[in-house]
Amino acid sequence: MPFHFYNTQTRQYEEFKPLQEGLVRIYSCGPTVYDYAHIGNFRSYVFTDLLRRCLKLAGYQVEQALNLTDVDDKTIRGALARQADAGLKELRAHTDIFTNAFFEDLQALNIETFEHYPRATEHIPAMLEIIDRLTEKGYAYEQDGSIYFSIAKDKSYGKLSHIDLSNVKSGTRYRTDEYDKEDIRDFVLWKAEPPQSKMAWDTSYGHGRPGWHIECSAMIRKIFNGPIDIHTGGVDLIFPHHENEIAQSECAYEEKFVAIWMHCEHLLVDGRKMSKSEGNFFTLRDLLKQGHHPAAIRYFLLASHYRQKLNFTFEGLEQALHSLKRIITAWLRVKSCAIGGSDIQLPLRRWREDFLTQLQDDLNMPRALAVVFDAVKEINSALDRQQDKLTDSDKKEVLSLFDYFDRVLGILRYSGDFAAIAEVPPHLSDLLAARNAARAAKNWVEADRLRDKITAAGYKIVDTKEGTRLEKI
Ligand code: AMP
Ligand code: ZN
Repeated sequence: MPFHFYNTQTRQYEEFKPLQEGLVRIYSCGPTVYDYAHIGNFRSYVFTDLLRRCLKLAGYQVEQALNLTDVDDKTIRGALARQADAGLKELRAHTDIFTNAFFEDLQALNIETFEHYPRATEHIPAMLEIIDRLTEKGYAYEQDGSIYFSIAKDKSYGKLSHIDLSNVKSGTRYRTDEYDKEDIRDFVLWKAEPPQSKMAWDTSYGHGRPGWHIECSAMIRKIFNGPIDIHTGGVDLIFPHHENEIAQSECAYEEKFVAIWMHCEHLLVDGRKMSKSEGNFFTLRDLLKQGHHPAAIRYFLLASHYRQKLNFTFEGLEQALHSLKRIITAWLRVKSCAIGGSDIQLPLRRWREDFLTQLQDDLNMPRALAVVFDAVKEINSALDRQQDKLTDSDKKEVLSLFDYFDRVLGILRYSGDFAAIAEVPPHLSDLLAARNAARAAKNWVEADRLRDKITAAGYKIVDTKEGTRLEKI
């Protein structure tokens, strides 16, 4: 079955066909490296990681870029706060701190390493090339030393966000990079800076620095040199950022820019977008310091559908931990089980196919996870039935099924931290046997006493069709 993705631009589910057979080229808008990213930002990176892993699972080669916005109002403000006469070198030193922290966070969340991490400051010539083309073709104009894109000249402006163009304030313009749909104006490509500013480049357009939107258009052109398959970001980037990227790139190069636009919904707190400006955010570091496990955060961000809003709560994080422990415990149990028993006859191949099929349907993670938990349940029952024994070939195949799931889930890597949950100390197994014997003899007082001892040791008794076993609480 081919992938089907929801394309923001056409507002349709579309069958996915890469522009070049077997290869998928993706660009994902990355962080502005002026501070530590919050877990709302990481929702969008976990989403692109999911997309990448699913495509690879289906056999595609992926070439993916995630950019670092290392020059804008916020990064400049930060560098100046550190040092009043800061220049580009100091700007780089400042953004390097948060870039390094960002890479550490990506690793903590087990987000795969992408092929390209372009920095805006290293692509100024590619930006100037686009501005040259736009100027030559009459899409760009100068005002007070800055260069602006004239949206009136672009007849297809608005095609991504489907904005109402009657709100256009024609002939007016924005020097800031962010503004909303109610206020559609010409946007800045190149900002003139005062002569004393050291955070600027000297170019044929004068002393200045790029606007935010041109950065992504230029990095995409430089890296991929032509149309790409998929462009991702959070929904807040649809307008104006992505709308403006399309306008610049398509007017400059007169060819399609992006085949499919995919946007993930926001992570919310009490119904509002998690964001720095609202002050309702947690960085990954905050949560890890509080003792939350990175696997739980990864799982929490991954488990819901990317196009559904997701409310962040600590209970949600606990539930995520509980769910991922179920998967890891089952895997550890299979890994450590003895060889023996008979053929378990489980639909291992069907689970594998169903898992991929659900993901091919616009990355339907909730349904893919339902397949995983169905498999976990059946595998646990088979182990209960056979007293933790599997035939040699069943054991290999079941482990390979877990590996297959994990190529997308990316949680088994953390299993070392959870190994203790799968190991039941022998004296507790003896207590369980004694408690079961007491129950069989209808000695309820003794059975309860033994159960309490087990609970006090941090384990709970799980009843199954085949008998009882212990699980760490
Ligand atoms: P920024 O550093 O603000 O440019 O954001 C980097 C990425 O994080 C962009 O793709 C945003 O769309 C995304 N993003 C920001 N806040 C959230 C949120 N609360 N939920 C999901 N994605 C977000
Ligand atoms: Zn971007």
